[in-house]
Amino acid sequence: YFPFEELHIKVPSVGQFSEAETKESGVLVSAGKYDLIEGNSIYDISVAFNYGQGTGAAQLLRWITEHTEIVHNPPYQDWFCTMTIGSTSALDMALRMFTQRGDFILSEEYTFATAVETAAPMGVRVVGVKMDEQGLLADSMDEILSTWDERARGARKPFVLYTVPTGQNPTGATQGLQRRKDIYRIAQKHDLYILEDEPYYFLQMQPYTGQSAPPIPPPTSHAAFLSALVPSLLSMDTDGRVMRMDSFSKVVSPGSRCGWITASAQVVERYMKHADVSTQGPSGMSQLILFKLLDEHWDHAGYLDWLIHIRLAYTRRRDVILAACEAHLPRDIVSWKPPMAGMFHWLRVDWRKHPRARDKSVTDLEEEIFMASIRHGALVMRGSWFYADNTVEHDTMFFRATYAAAPEDKIQEAIRRFGDAIRESFGLEQA
Ligand code: PLP
Repeated sequence: YFPFEELHIKVPSVGQFSEAETKESGVLVSAGKYDLIEGNSIYDISVAFNYGQGTGAAQLLRWITEHTEIVHNPPYQDWFCTMTIGSTSALDMALRMFTQRGDFILSEEYTFATAVETAAPMGVRVVGVKMDEQGLLADSMDEILSTWDERARGARKPFVLYTVPTGQNPTGATQGLQRRKDIYRIAQKHDLYILEDEPYYFLQMQPYTGQSAPPIPPPTSHAAFLSALVPSLLSMDTDGRVMRMDSFSKVVSPGSRCGWITASAQVVERYMKHADVSTQGPSGMSQLILFKLLDEHWDHAGYLDWLIHIRLAYTRRRDVILAACEAHLPRDIVSWKPPMAGMFHWLRVDWRKHPRARDKSVTDLEEEIFMASIRHGALVMRGSWFYADNTVEHDTMFFRATYAAAPEDKIQEAIRRFGDAIRESFGLEQA
C-alpha cells in the first residue's frame, strides 16, 4: 500500500555539473515501484521504501564499498563498510560502543562542537591535543598519554582518538602525509583506536598560489585527482585500529542523512547490530535517490568527475575569501593560513594589541568583537565555542568564517564588515 508509484529526479549529466547546465541539459533518472520484478533495475520503490537492514541496502552498499576500495584500499583483508545516517550519528554510536561513563577521549584542542556535545551526556570528556597548521600534534598526544595519571585525572588512560584529519572543523587544518603517519605510530605505541571523521576529505583544494601567481592546473585524470589527495588514516591502517566515517553531507547533500563507516569485520559487525536496534540504517528514500544517481547514472567515473568539479569550485571560493581577507583585514591584528581543504577559514586575532587587553579577559573581548561583527552585519563563529575542553585556560582568540555557501560578492562584503568590526573594537581608523 505504499502511495508512491514512480520517482523522477533531474540530475546533472556527467561533465555538465553547474546548476545552469543541469537545468538546461540535466537527465531525468527514474525509479518505478516494481522495477526489480519487471527486470528494469536491481533496486526499486517497493524494496527501498520498505523496512530494510541496519547496514543499508545491499545495492547501494556495494557501490559504497567499491568507492572505498578505489579511494582508500585498506591494507588488510577483512574490512567492511556499513551505512550510517551521517557521521554525527556514527560518532554517537561509536562512543556508545567504545567508551564508558567517566572515560576521556582525545581530540584536537579545537574540535567539532557537536562531537563534544555528543560525548558529554554519556559522561565522556574530551582531552584536547595541541595543534599547529597541520592539525593534531602527534608529540603532544604522545606526551599526554605517556604522562597520564589515572589518579589525578580520575579516569583510565584514553584509548580512543577522535580526529578530523582533513579541513578540520573549525580550524580548516589538514594533516599532511607525514603527520598522519606520526599520529598512526603514536596510536600504535599507546594502542589507541582511531575514529577518523572525514566529511571534508573531498574538499581538498588546489594548492594556494597567492593572488598574483598563476593557478596550478586542475587534475587531468582520475588517477591524478586521487593521487593529489592526502592518503587517509584508513589507507595506512595495517592493524585494523581505524573506524573511518564518510558522509555524503558535504559533497552531495546533508539532507540525505546518509554516510558510511569502514572498519574491521569485528567492529562493523557490532555497528550493524547497534544500527539494527537504533537508526535502522538510512532512509530508503535517500538510498534510492543516491543509488539512481551514483550507481546507475554517474557510476564511479562520473562521481569522481563530480568530486573534481567540487574541488575546483571550493578552490575558487577559498581564493575569494583569501583575497577579501588580504584586502579588508588589518594584517597586524588578524592572521591566517590558507586552508588546503574544507569550508572553514580560521582567523587568529592578536587580542594583546587590544586597547583594553589589560583589564578584559580574552572571552570578554571575543564576545565584544563577535557582537560588533553582528552589528556590522557579518556572522562569524567564536573560537571558544569549539574548545575540546573548556575547563582549560586558553589565551588565544580565533573566529571561524566559512566560504561554503554564500555567493562570492557576499563573502567579500562579509569579510569587509568583519574588518570594520575589528577596527572599531580595536579603536583603529576605518579603512
Ligand atoms: N563531522 C564534522 C567534523 C563536521 O564538521 C560535520 C558537519 O558540520 C559533521 C561531522 C556532520 O556530518 P553528518 O552530516 O554526516 O552528520
